[in-house]
Amino acid sequence: MTNNRRAYNDAETAGLLSQVNSRCPLCDCFLFYRKGQRQHKAYELAHIYPLNPRPEEIIELAKSPRLCVDVNDPDNIIPLCVSCHERFDKPRTAGEYLNLYQLKFDTLQQERQRSLASQYPLEQQIAAVIAHLHDAEVDQGSSSALSFTPKSVNDKLDATMPPPTKQKVRNAVEDYFLHVQAAFLELERSDPGCSEQICIQVRSFYVMQKRQRLPQAEVFSNLVAWIRVRSKASTLESVEAVASFFIQNCEVFE
Ligand SMILES: [Zn+2]
Repeated sequence: MTNNRRAYNDAETAGLLSQVNSRCPLCDCFLFYRKGQRQHKAYELAHIYPLNPRPEEIIELAKSPRLCVDVNDPDNIIPLCVSCHERFDKPRTAGEYLNLYQLKFDTLQQERQRSLASQYPLEQQIAAVIAHLHDAEVDQGSSSALSFTPKSVNDKLDATMPPPTKQKVRNAVEDYFLHVQAAFLELERSDPGCSEQICIQVRSFYVMQKRQRLPQAEVFSNLVAWIRVRSKASTLESVEAVASFFIQNCEVFE
């Protein structure tokens, strides 16, 4: 039985292009070109698992995972530039297939996480806490009471957290703990109960992540992305510092 190529409407095509930020995910070239006053398309919608695999392709991909049963489902489609599409299809290799499968899988996961995160509110005042850090001097080598802090963070981080991420969280707690705490105390004075509510909201977001059994590194990165969107913060490092504070102080990773 031969599968027919399905047509994708404008909304589906726009969705697929936005998943790859309008760039070829294999060579990073822009998927449009300009001639005169007009923009033209420089992409093709590629089937990740082939639409009608040849016998040798069925054997090559026999052990590979699939994104979905229906090969025409948009979840099995990815925009590629014309030359990458040609190279991807001919000849088809399990390694290249797996690479594109993983790219699409990660994109779909990110979209899913973003939709989930949008259902979790976070008080706007979190932006003030993050802004407070922009002028903060790091606390390196200060207060001896803080020497206990990184140890308890260490206890919470498990083996699924890569060492560089662990180090980043530890450093952020060591360097910014007092500043984040001061910002929350200041917030508490002007808006009693607000910092507790923020803590509960963070905890609730974390429990939702935990129920998905995601590894810690992924939970941390989703937590950072959520706080960043909610606070409209422009500096990633400040958001990471606040997220690390929550690991220390709001029963995240416990
Ligand atoms: Zn390309």
